Amino acid sequence: MKLIRQVNKASIKFGGQLLAKGNLVAFPTETVYGLGANAKDSQAVAKIFAAKNRPSFNPLIVHLSDQGEAHKHAVLNSSAKALADAFWPGPLTLILPRQERCEISPLASAGLDTVALRVPASAAARGLITAARKPIAAPSANLSGRLSPTCAEHVANQLKRKVSLILDGGPCDIGLESTVVDVSNNIPVILRPGGLPSEMMEQAIGQKLLQDTGNGTDIKSPGMLVNHYAPSLALRINAQKPRPGEVFLGFGKDAINADLNLSPTGDLLEAAANLFAYLHQLDSMPAKGIAVMPIPTETIGWAINDRLERAACR
Ligand code: AMP
Ligand code: MG
Repeated sequence: MKLIRQVNKASIKFGGQLLAKGNLVAFPTETVYGLGANAKDSQAVAKIFAAKNRPSFNPLIVHLSDQGEAHKHAVLNSSAKALADAFWPGPLTLILPRQERCEISPLASAGLDTVALRVPASAAARGLITAARKPIAAPSANLSGRLSPTCAEHVANQLKRKVSLILDGGPCDIGLESTVVDVSNNIPVILRPGGLPSEMMEQAIGQKLLQDTGNGTDIKSPGMLVNHYAPSLALRINAQKPRPGEVFLGFGKDAINADLNLSPTGDLLEAAANLFAYLHQLDSMPAKGIAVMPIPTETIGWAINDRLERAACR
């Protein structure tokens, strides 16, 4: 494994070549770090499932360099086009029917007749995809079920023996995974809250969005298993104060005695960006568990609470 600390022309070109040859490359995006492989190459895609120990029924998000590419692989209806126009590049994943001649590996779709597409905003990610000249399948660069990585060290801790390259672009701006919206039918449905708040999408398309974030047993979005995004320590949410032996993750100005504070000023965007890094940090402390203060549920707070609830469920 090679860790390159600089995202520049040379490292992007090198990463693109590795991807085109069927290797795994971990790279930064604005949401979290991705574990990338050429989405057209089933053997390369299979390496992702093996490296993450990811169940093969859980499909991957395929990343594209621009919106025009999407039409080669999938069929976009009017809501899909409106959302893509408004929010690509950005933290939005669209579930779309596969084109008849779609060349993306069926393994990336886990055998479904839909494909998950996203155009990331991060310059490093788009540069790499452009350099590879391929669609890039990339789930979060962590072991299946564990916390997502928001910096290169998180990736190295879990996957360093399994990837050819980790491209270090510093901490991720948003720090939470993309919002996943199923637009394969007439009515768009949010399958996973994420970096793009639902309020913004509803405003852009002038339509209320349905939500189906799963009950952990149906597999509408197979990645939304109840127990997911989990630290090793037990996690307790909506805690006003820690119990003996617990470390305490605070939010806002009332968080006295917190070991870490997601945002002392109560800024939800700051809290999202810090969430996984702080959970990684607290998880490595000699404690019995992690207690987390209540976080408001508006805008990106919905996604923060979604991740915390899944992390708390074991
Ligand atoms: P990640 O592993 O963080 O990249 O998450 C990808 C998410 O998108 C998971 O929740 C997947 O189950 C979901 N997903 C990907 N492809 C599809 C699809 N074709 N249909 C429904 N959900 C999908
Ligand atoms: Mg993931």
